[in-house]
Amino acid sequence: MEKVIIIRYAEIHLKGKNRGWFERVFAVNMEKSLKGIRHEIHRSSGRYLIENFNSVDTEVILERLKRVFGIHSFSVGFKVGADMDEIFTAAKDVSFDSGTFKVETHRADKKFRLNSMQISAEIGGRLLDSNKNIKVDVHNPKFIINIDLRENGTALVFNEFFKGSGGMPVGTAGKAMLLISGGIDSPVAGHMIAKRGMCVDCIHFHSYPYTNMQAKEKVIDLAKILSSYTCGTKLNIISVTHIQEEIHKKCNGDYMVTLLRRFMMRIAERIALKSGAQCLITGESIAQVASQTVEGITSSNSVVKTLPVMRPLCGFDKDEIIERSRAIGTYEKSIEPYEDCCTVFLPKHPITRPKLADVIEEENELDVEALIDEAMASLEVLNL
Ligand code: ATP
Ligand code: MG
Repeated sequence: MEKVIIIRYAEIHLKGKNRGWFERVFAVNMEKSLKGIRHEIHRSSGRYLIENFNSVDTEVILERLKRVFGIHSFSVGFKVGADMDEIFTAAKDVSFDSGTFKVETHRADKKFRLNSMQISAEIGGRLLDSNKNIKVDVHNPKFIINIDLRENGTALVFNEFFKGSGGMPVGTAGKAMLLISGGIDSPVAGHMIAKRGMCVDCIHFHSYPYTNMQAKEKVIDLAKILSSYTCGTKLNIISVTHIQEEIHKKCNGDYMVTLLRRFMMRIAERIALKSGAQCLITGESIAQVASQTVEGITSSNSVVKTLPVMRPLCGFDKDEIIERSRAIGTYEKSIEPYEDCCTVFLPKHPITRPKLADVIEEENELDVEALIDEAMASLEVLNL
């Protein structure tokens, strides 16, 4: 009797002619996520089976699969021959020690000598005979024994359905560039876009030596957590120290964050276009802070020339974002207390509703292109 993990995919089944391609990317992503663990992945009409793994690795495999987008649900069970004795042995193994149950059979092999109802009835009867502490309840059972009779002369027997993370396989919807800070929001935004099938590369801006090395390490750690969902990521790190010094020296200080944001967006777009990313992602949420008013967003958005900017959190409350951040495992890292470059030279009264004409007037004091070229020269790229 072989232990198996049964994987059902999410939206891929809606795809038409290109479904095969989606399935291949999905299988490759599962392979990547299970790297270093002995296993085999086999496709079996509309689902995947993980076989040939060490039973002690089951939990680790499940934990890793929870991070693979495209999985609708999975179950742990047994693969046996299409034989009532073998099916019964497996059913006994996945059965609870006590409580109510029912047996549900799905029969793809229509030539099998018993129909679904007969299989369920016979296995249910044998289970009742073997354990006096269980009882049948077809309406509200504590557990369900599922029997899936395949066309190839095998049967899958399992009890529980675990929810997968849903979404589309990463790599089936192109590539995005996430502006990642050390905060709570941006990793969540990246996760949401990856869930829809995009590869996500990251870009982070720092103001070393005004911000310290721990702040950079924190962002590397956050990008690493994100990369466990995105099948790897590239982290681009850029210094904006001189840009901030120039703004501080030459412009009205109240525009510090507003102007800095425009530099970040311009640089992010440049690097995105170079690396083949097709959109930018930010963790902005409308009205969350001074720079995220619709006027603030208009100001930073207006310098992005060709790419769309995705703001998946724009309608979320902070507590909703925190909940997601906890669920994806970035929260504890995000709340470590290292400063972001946006807190350097922070004005007492930042402009909350900048008028674009005023912003441009302030910006005219700066040699924008030269500052960007200089910042680009500080680019450091990490493959995570
Ligand atoms: P976060 O929690 O993501 O830091 P926040 O609520 O602190 O967001 P802001 O600091 O205003 O908001 O930043 C808004 C967005 O701008 C961030 O979500 C991120 O996408 C981008 N951003 C801010 N600082 C940086 C940075 N140092 N490097 C890259 N992107 C940044
Ligand atoms: Mg922030």
